[in-house]
Amino acid sequence: MNDTVTFFNSLSRSLEPFKPIEPGHVRMYTCGPTVHDFAHIGNFRTFIFEDLLRRTLKFHGYQVTHVMNLTDVDDKTIRKSRQAGLPLRQYTARFKEAFFEDVDALRIERAEHYPAATDHIDDMVKLIEALQSKDHTYRSHGSTYFSVASYPEYGRLSGVDIQEDTDAQHSRVDHDEYEKDNARDFALWKAWSPEDGDAFWETPLGKGRPGWHIECSAMSRALLGDHFDIHTGGIDNLFPHHDNEIAQSCAATGADFVNHWLHSEHLLVEGKKMSKSLGNFLTLRDLMARGHSPVVVRYALLSAHYRTQMNLTEELLQASAQAVERLREFERRLRAHLLADHPNPLPAEEDGLEEAKTQFKQALFADLNLPEALGHLFRLVRHVNGLLTRGTLPPQRTQAVLDWLKEVDTVLAVLEPEAKASDPNEDKVKALVLKREEARQGRDWAQADTLRAQIEALGYIVKDTPQGPSWRRI
Ligand code: AMP
Ligand code: ZN
Repeated sequence: MNDTVTFFNSLSRSLEPFKPIEPGHVRMYTCGPTVHDFAHIGNFRTFIFEDLLRRTLKFHGYQVTHVMNLTDVDDKTIRKSRQAGLPLRQYTARFKEAFFEDVDALRIERAEHYPAATDHIDDMVKLIEALQSKDHTYRSHGSTYFSVASYPEYGRLSGVDIQEDTDAQHSRVDHDEYEKDNARDFALWKAWSPEDGDAFWETPLGKGRPGWHIECSAMSRALLGDHFDIHTGGIDNLFPHHDNEIAQSCAATGADFVNHWLHSEHLLVEGKKMSKSLGNFLTLRDLMARGHSPVVVRYALLSAHYRTQMNLTEELLQASAQAVERLREFERRLRAHLLADHPNPLPAEEDGLEEAKTQFKQALFADLNLPEALGHLFRLVRHVNGLLTRGTLPPQRTQAVLDWLKEVDTVLAVLEPEAKASDPNEDKVKALVLKREEARQGRDWAQADTLRAQIEALGYIVKDTPQGPSWRRI
């Protein structure tokens, strides 16, 4: 069977076979949440698509180094922290925490790195200085701007044409987000103004703060290098954010930046993008208060192909709850069948497992066609349920189906969690390792050492590698 994975690359606007730069190892960057509020279900549609991508790559057998940034300084975080009368760091801390609670509840596998923008200001300054030295910037009123006219390849991703846009050289924008599909010079470093309050850094670029776009270019470079495999985000990130990232990174380093760009479509509410600015958003907490379990929300968000728009309706949530229960019931039935005595076994019937395995994998590897893959899975469930009823599935085939169901669940993550017979501390250790990595990212070495001692007290050692922390039992 052909095990090649293909993805729709937004850069070439076509399906392309995926090949990592370093054989067997995928490095990917996903634009993370702006921590000015609780992430909404639209944001989580994108984060769950990225989780599916990560889990599919691992299902294939790749090692994955995944970076998701936390935007904890930009126009929105500053405005909201000022409205709340709190220092920026204190204001964003509670939404970072809430984000990770939701991530865990939705069974989104943790990335290897969650860099916060405010911990990488030096990297941003260095990147802007590199752009300065190559004449891609200019200063105005204490701010530093990227000149799109200085980079003729600008707009490769969105197709925006700076030649047609005769105003490009004169048109400049200070806001982090701008909707209009035309090339504009954008702020790399914004001079401090009184509305920024405590959100400033004294740097060689002056007193100020980074623009949003440079944050991702600098953090991806710091953790994944100049050139890596995959970059993703929601479709609204494509322009201007990702076109700006490409311009900044390629112009500064002269190297290639990203090979595969993947974008997920929006979650809609009555035909409009779910967004905080439109006020039409729901959080995971809202849905849980209405009685929906996070795992059902997860399944619902996974059920549409990532490149189609979707609505989250009550009917979809109900159908998702049934689908999850069907899979869980199937697992319980297989286990019960294994435990039962079979004194006079009937002749075995063809179970269809091998065919389902091939079809599931092929669909998943064809640009993450999970809806089709789920079709193959449920066909197998229906068929095998028939065999279980008739008593024509021998124990070793029951075990094979169960093993595959568990393998499939490394991608879906909707089955009942297994009883942790092996080591009750496993989850605790993983959480401590991730907490320690956060402390290290924040250069809080004392806290990192305390956490290392706690990890060792539970019988594990942790090692820091260029791909992130690894840990094992002593
Ligand atoms: P933000 O916190 O606004 O920076 O957004 C975080 C991620 O959520 C980005 O990748 C956005 O593209 C994505 N996103 C925002 N709104 C939606 C939506 N309605 N549907 C899907 N993805 C979204
Ligand atoms: Zn980004």
